Formats: sequence, structure tokens, C-alpha cells
Amino acid sequence: RADVSDVRVVMTAERKGPMIIAVGSGKGGVGKSTLTANLAIALAKKGVKVGLVDADIYGPSQPVIFGSQSVRPDARDNKPVPIESKYGVPHLSMGHLVTPGKALAWRGPMASGAITQLLEAHWSSETEVLLVDLPPGTGDVQLTMIQKFKPAGAVLVSTPQDLALIDAARAGQLFDTAGVPVIGLVENMSGYACPHCGEVSDPFGAGGVEAAAGRLELPFLGRIPLDMAIRQGSDAGDPPAAGDGPMAEPFNAIATRLGE
Ligand code: ADP
Repeated sequence: RADVSDVRVVMTAERKGPMIIAVGSGKGGVGKSTLTANLAIALAKKGVKVGLVDADIYGPSQPVIFGSQSVRPDARDNKPVPIESKYGVPHLSMGHLVTPGKALAWRGPMASGAITQLLEAHWSSETEVLLVDLPPGTGDVQLTMIQKFKPAGAVLVSTPQDLALIDAARAGQLFDTAGVPVIGLVENMSGYACPHCGEVSDPFGAGGVEAAAGRLELPFLGRIPLDMAIRQGSDAGDPPAAGDGPMAEPFNAIATRLGE
């Protein structure tokens, strides 16, 4: 794990190209990829020209969420061309560039090279925003992205559980130190509505992330409930934000707040 104090960013020239928004989390499995995909789709529905980079090189899940596992991107001038999707979100994942199912053991320089390749791909000149699904924690990919690509801001996602929260705060510290503003926090898996009786229970607690946002004086962007439809849609290449079911709502709301 890279140390926060390793970040020495010299940002002089303004970067050209789309605004980069990083989506990070302290640990894996909290729904960072789910949020990134659905947020991108919700933004696209609002007319934003948005692309998505899956920089979670250790466990790329965007090809599954977008149903593009079997697609191999074209290459032009030795650079990959992002894959179009029916949801209006061109995307590119390390999962598209390496042999599917092959276990990835990236060393630092390879990880840094991978994120560079993804961000310097043939993104259309019309792309306004690039959402970047980061690997969890604070490692080489995060450092390269911060130092080389200067994100406009970061969104951090956590479940209400304490441990996940503490780690998300550490990831936030990394961005803070580098002068990348944390746009806000999102609470995922926040409350579970029983599909049989409708009673809402809180398997991971609820409200913890909003309270933490208050303590850290960061904006709270919204909560997403734990819902079977979200998991099923993600696994089936049919993300909920693309539909008009109740589970599109929380993502639409976060997209709206992001634009504010
Ligand atoms: P991360 O990117 O943080 O590792 P993922 O987005 O891959 O996490 O989510 C981990 C698993 O949890 C996936 O199977 C995903 O479909 C599921 N999941 C994420 N958020 C929710 C939610 N709000 N309700 C139900 N399942 C969810």
C-alpha cells in the first residue's frame, strides 16, 4: 500500500481533455463498480457525454455489468478504442485488454502503465466526463492517476460498516493530500427491504456514512439500498439505472447532486 505522504504532485499546466472523476473506496466489495456504472448511465440519460474507465485492474467488473465480456476493443495508432454500449456510455476495462479469467498479479510499474493506457485511449473529443472505477484502497493506480491525470474530484463509496468507513476515510486522505477535492460520499447497501413483507432492516447499519460525511465536513451524495434487483441487473449486463424501475432512482438522484 502506498503511503499518503508519497504523493508529490506538481500541477502546473491545465490538462486538456475530459474532466476526470475518480470513484474510490477503502476496500473491495462495497459496490464501487456498481455505483460507477449506474452513475455513468444516469449521467448519460441526463445528456452528459460520459465515458467510463475500469481501472480496477485486480478485479475488473465493468465488462460483466455492461455485458461486454466477449468484446475486444479495436486498436488505432496502438491505442485501444473504447467500446460503445447500448446505454450511451463508451467504456474500457483492463478486462477487455487481458486474457479473460487470467489472474492478474500486477507490479507497480505495470499497474501504472495499465491506467495510463486506459486513460490515453481513443476517447472521443466530445467526451465531457470520464468516470474512473479505481481499485480499492490507495495503491500505484491511484498515485499514477493523481500525479499524471489530475482528476477534477473524487467520489468515495462505503457501506455503513465502521471498518469500511475508516478505510474510505484513508482513501479520502490520499486525494486530500494531492489537492483532489472529494466531491462527496455515497452510502451503499444502506437498508434492505424484505421482498416478502416489505419491512426494512439494516444488515450493515444505516446512516453511518452520512454521519461520517458530517464529521469530515464532506458533502453526502446519497444512499443506495441493498436490493436484489441491483445485484441481478449487474450480473446480467442490465444495470438498474438504465431502466425505469425503483432502483434507477437512487442513481438518478446522485447524478443530479453531482451536477450541482
Ligand atoms: P466493488 O467494486 O466495491 O468491489 P461491486 O460493485 O463489484 O463492488 O459489488 C460487489 C457485489 O455486490 C456485486 O455482486 C454487486 O452486484 C453487489 N452489489 C453492489 N451494490 C449492491 C446493492 N446496493 N444491492 C445489492 N447488491 C449490490
